[in-house]
Amino acid sequence: MSSSGGRTIVVGAGLGGLSVAIHLRRAGFEVLVLEANERTGGRAGLLKVNGYRFDTGPSLLNYPWVFRDLFAAGSARFEDRVHLLRVDPSIRFVWPDGQTFTLSGDLERLRAEVERVSPADVAGLMAFLADAEAKYNLAFQKLVLRDRECVVRWFGVLTPRELLRTAVWRSLDGELGRFFHCARLREALGAYAMYLGGSPWELAGLFSILPYGELAYGLWLPAGGIYALVAAVEGLARELGVRIETGRRVHRIRAAGDRVEGVECAEGEFERAELVVSNVDVPTTWTALLGRTSTRRLRMTPGVITWYWGVRGGAPAVPHHTIVLPADSRRAYAQLMAGELPDDLPFYISVPSRTDPSLAPPQADAMFVLVPCPRISQYEGDWGAMVREVRHRVESRMAAHGWTIRPEAREVDVVWTPEEWRDRFGLFDGSAFGAAHTRGQIGPLRPSNCDPLLRGLYYVGASTRPGTGLPMVALSGLMTARRVLADAH
Ligand SMILES: Cc1cc2nc3c(=O)[nH]c(=O)nc-3n(C[C@H](O)[C@H](O)[C@H](O)COP(=O)(O)OP(=O)(O)OC[C@H]3O[C@@H](n4cnc5c(N)ncnc54)[C@H](O)[C@@H]3O)c2cc1C
Repeated sequence: MSSSGGRTIVVGAGLGGLSVAIHLRRAGFEVLVLEANERTGGRAGLLKVNGYRFDTGPSLLNYPWVFRDLFAAGSARFEDRVHLLRVDPSIRFVWPDGQTFTLSGDLERLRAEVERVSPADVAGLMAFLADAEAKYNLAFQKLVLRDRECVVRWFGVLTPRELLRTAVWRSLDGELGRFFHCARLREALGAYAMYLGGSPWELAGLFSILPYGELAYGLWLPAGGIYALVAAVEGLARELGVRIETGRRVHRIRAAGDRVEGVECAEGEFERAELVVSNVDVPTTWTALLGRTSTRRLRMTPGVITWYWGVRGGAPAVPHHTIVLPADSRRAYAQLMAGELPDDLPFYISVPSRTDPSLAPPQADAMFVLVPCPRISQYEGDWGAMVREVRHRVESRMAAHGWTIRPEAREVDVVWTPEEWRDRFGLFDGSAFGAAHTRGQIGPLRPSNCDPLLRGLYYVGASTRPGTGLPMVALSGLMTARRVLADAH
């Protein structure tokens, strides 16, 4: 392919960086991706230890159509390169008294499960699915990819009836409450709020599209793990002629007047470019790569402590995805959002080798445990002490459900704290998922994918538009490429 669009440097090869690289390359740009780590994928990384393959971050893949579209943009067929395994039943929620609720994309199964947990809510389930489907279609057809700098113009495309449908003024819990009487069903369906950096009592009702999207389009694991998807996206980018250089850390983005002129790498060399797209977390780009001291203060999502356990003889009897909820979710969210460790901890357990046994040696399981926790600036103590405390609490709660692991069976035992997440990938303040999705930080109010001060500087990824999560950062690549092209004309 010829290169007519000018030399572009993408800083960082996270999924957002790879996506923008593909779209810009297709549009004729010469694209060089500089990645600090030895591997691409960023948070969606890979840890290979003693025959186990652990995905470092994302473990739930939803909205597969986004990736089909990404491959189609590169004139390739997703199905030829990634084999998706369906995870159904998808997620089990467990409360301290042992009650469970299990989601499924199979309507009959889901209806039976709602009937088991709260018979009065079966009619509400059907009404919820119909309403959330309309919201979902509206969001993806008209809002998510609409790049505007002003809320009025962003919403301006909607009819009054559609505007009402978005329920942005109502809380997520309030929205779920229109359909479900049972507080626990609402807690389960609102549990994504944690990853969006707010509580279901403060995030917008529009986010009911998240549980809907999973129910309607399924929850998936690529065969070989999430990293198999990353490797396929990287392969596509390289085939299209994107140059990807790993082990190259960018130290500074350099400008000449009000225009970007390239980047300086950690070893001191200068790479000239007409355009720079930063896939490094937006507030890290502002502070560390641009040296800006007074920047917009963003509300960030919490930190996480993540464990990677290789369990000889197999994991305890949990399904692929389990979300362990506290007795009082409202209190746990309030503590977490205030920067404290909740005294009754919510956490998440994944055993991907249940779906793809190749991720662990024979008769063994790969287990991943994720616990939301304060960010680095919110905790003054020693992270080693925090890890010991959290681990004790996680293991006690697991034991209360009968899920124990003999110490000698745990042949891989790796832990990452928010400091590790920051140091490896440049996550600002150790925030795991980037800028929160509170009302003041969605749509046009989220950091723009285009720098307001420096011409030629753009952003892609979780803390910019449209938001966090694998499908969203892949879409972010498309949005940013469109912005670059619009500015070029
Ligand atoms: C523990 C965890 C669990 C998650 N679970 C899920 C899930 O189940 N499902 C889901 O959809 N999403 C999940 N997410 C969110 C998802 O991982 C992110 O939204 C997404 O991967 C972010 O991609 P990105 O391209 O924005 O950035 P990143 O993945 O952060 O990529 C940024 C890249 O920039 C590189 N970089 C940083 N600084 C420099 C520098 N100075 N020079 C050069 N390169 C640099 C980094 O090394 C990295 O490769 C999870 C995240 C975490 C942390």
